[in-house]
Amino acid sequence: MQVLEDAPLAPLTTLRLGGPARRLVTAGTDAEVIAAVRAADDAAEPLLVLGGGSNLVIGDAGFDGTVLRIATTGFELDGTTLELAAGEIWADAVTRTVDEGLAGIEFLAGIPGSAGATPVQNVGAYGQEVSSSITEVVAYDRSAGETVVLSNAECDFSYRHSRFKADPERYVVLRVRFALEDNGGRSTPVRYAETARYLGVEPGERVEVAAAREAVLLLRSGKGMVLDPADHDTWSAGSFFTNPILTPDQYAAFLTRLDGRTAPAYPGPDGCTKTSAAWLIDQAGFGKGYGTGPATLSTKHTLALTNRGNATTADLVALAREIRAGVRAAFGVELVNEPVTVGVDL
Ligand SMILES: Cc1cc2nc3c(=O)[nH]c(=O)nc-3n(C[C@H](O)[C@H](O)[C@H](O)COP(=O)(O)OP(=O)(O)OC[C@H]3O[C@@H](n4cnc5c(N)ncnc54)[C@H](O)[C@@H]3O)c2cc1C
Repeated sequence: MQVLEDAPLAPLTTLRLGGPARRLVTAGTDAEVIAAVRAADDAAEPLLVLGGGSNLVIGDAGFDGTVLRIATTGFELDGTTLELAAGEIWADAVTRTVDEGLAGIEFLAGIPGSAGATPVQNVGAYGQEVSSSITEVVAYDRSAGETVVLSNAECDFSYRHSRFKADPERYVVLRVRFALEDNGGRSTPVRYAETARYLGVEPGERVEVAAAREAVLLLRSGKGMVLDPADHDTWSAGSFFTNPILTPDQYAAFLTRLDGRTAPAYPGPDGCTKTSAAWLIDQAGFGKGYGTGPATLSTKHTLALTNRGNATTADLVALAREIRAGVRAAFGVELVNEPVTVGVDL
């Protein structure tokens, strides 16, 4: 277990933003993770669990407590059953399963961060979410002081949400178990229109898993959604806002604000309609690359707020507030941030 005092956090986030941690503990085994959590809890010390820092906006003042960096390793594949240690790099784990010809997480290629964070916001992309292949999550339950195994149903997964996100102080994910599919090297059905078009198939058809992964990586790169240290468009936390899910009343009100434009609309849960945050942002006047300061929209995607190299968290938050207010004024829709904020309010 490595312990550093007054440790910079910005280099540990993909936005490269945020002040220092009073203490940074790096844990390489589950036992070290649990020991570090217990020590912080026993001392009533604020605790921030850190994976790859790709979904975090940390305030400029940093974190006055212990940041626990999860650096555990473990990739155990038995037939179609996969168990990943929380610290495994997610994108590498996807590559290994695709190399084995297995389906289930192939469309989630290229997503930065750790395996342990994937259940937290039910990571998803291109028509696939981890909730469809996760069978169990092994976690340390801070309120019970013991390790627990949560079934898929107990994780309360929904769109970019879960029990872990709803109750962030309670669980530290140690291991994630998946049931993958052996379809003779074929993928799960292609669900996303853009991927289907690129692959030259109809939605619902299957392709080779390796082709699915390659397509996703190419499409993601074109949007600045694959990390590249040399490309400031990827100095982001990915999509900054979730796609709004509108109740029937909210959707009816939204339609009156469109002035003849057609907004993307997809069926959501309970009669709700999901629309596109990227479309709203663009149509509210914030095009790709919007902004003149050190924090701007990505030049490749309106949904990513980026650090052009010398931004502060305050710069990024000011941009986020401006965009959220602009979308509210234009469409009456309240955008909700996807990344977790620490020591900063939007
Ligand atoms: C370029 C880019 C593209 C992205 N594309 C996508 C995408 O397509 N789809 C998508 O869903 N997300 C996407 N993201 C967001 C991000 O990659 C995912 O949310 C990822 O799962 C975060 O993992 P992490 O390890 O970096 O988490 P961190 O940023 O370190 O942490 C995020 C949250 O999870 C908590 N956490 C982390 N590890 C654990 C653990 N072991 N136990 C309990 N809590 C934990 C943290 O405390 C924090 O609250 C993207 C981000 C970037 C930068």
